[in-house]
Amino acid sequence: MKDLLPIEIPGLDPEKPLIIAGPCSAESEEQVLETAKELAASGIKVFRAGIWKPRTKPGGFEGVGAPGLQWLKKVKETTGMLTATEVATKQHVMDALAAGIDILWIGARTSANPFAVQEIADAIKEAGATDIPVLVKNPVNPDLELWIGAMQRFYNAGVRRLGAIHRGFSAYGKHLYRNMPQWHIPTELRLRYPSLPIICDPSHIGGKRELIAPLSQQALDMGFSGLIVESHCNPDCALSDASQQVTPEILNFILNTLVVRDSKQSTENLALLRQQIDQIDNELLEILSKRLRVCREIGQYKKEHRMPVVQPKRYNDILHGRVAVAEEMGLGADFMRTVLLAIHDESVRQQIEVLNDRAR
Ligand code: PEP
Ligand code: MN
Repeated sequence: MKDLLPIEIPGLDPEKPLIIAGPCSAESEEQVLETAKELAASGIKVFRAGIWKPRTKPGGFEGVGAPGLQWLKKVKETTGMLTATEVATKQHVMDALAAGIDILWIGARTSANPFAVQEIADAIKEAGATDIPVLVKNPVNPDLELWIGAMQRFYNAGVRRLGAIHRGFSAYGKHLYRNMPQWHIPTELRLRYPSLPIICDPSHIGGKRELIAPLSQQALDMGFSGLIVESHCNPDCALSDASQQVTPEILNFILNTLVVRDSKQSTENLALLRQQIDQIDNELLEILSKRLRVCREIGQYKKEHRMPVVQPKRYNDILHGRVAVAEEMGLGADFMRTVLLAIHDESVRQQIEVLNDRAR
């Protein structure tokens, strides 16, 4: 994917983050037009709305289907905004193109399915529409190769205006996020394809209104090219994803609080700071290695005195105390617990090696 082209939006400074906003689903002509009018008034240039909704279980609102495309056409005519929608089949592509949709996106459940992705890519090629921008959401599972593979299918079909959307990854059980961000995955994607725009979808990552602002800021701080955010004129009554949608007014407020960093600034200071990070990481490694050496000595002692390696009560006390101190130092409690437990696991593993006489 070498000769990718930029996704140009008329009237938008290409140096500024690309903001796409609109409801999760198009529900009625009034809802679509009212939301669009308000978004356009606050300067949004690209309107999103799902016409066909892939639902986890049958019985939910599955989208209004092709008739809704006419509402998007009206959005374009009345506000001048470009329109974007999700396509998951060849028929969706044909209908969306016929209605003059400007940008297509591929949903997370579709990206995980190479047959579906290939069918969509072939349909775009057959329609002679490879000029259309295609934004590919990450697959629901944290598989970078599958995500890249989906984008390659469009690239091979001749699409050059490609973009990726990071919308987080499914995880079993209840978590702070609806979909885990796993930021290292889009970061790795960026390292591999520096010219590929990556857009963050804080609505589907967070699943809650209050997480939109912090996730958006984090994405901009990490150098993402833009945001796709769900916005509805009456979010509480939305037929899908109600808890993560905000009014255009709130969205405008959030966007105005975001700090956009200048990626063109001199990187000299950054180089100095990075040197410091290298140095600190080396110190961390030395300290860890020292800690593990002491643990092996303790292992030796336990072996000689026939003591068990793990003494849960002692470690629980240590963990509590350390996390409390760490919090006072401004470190997150969950983060510290994870780090300390990982260090403890490795210490136990090394002590067992000592016990079995396999220590180096
Ligand atoms: C959406 O954008 O409304 C959507 C269905 O998202 P995802 O494919 O990320 O679940
Ligand atoms: Mn949604």
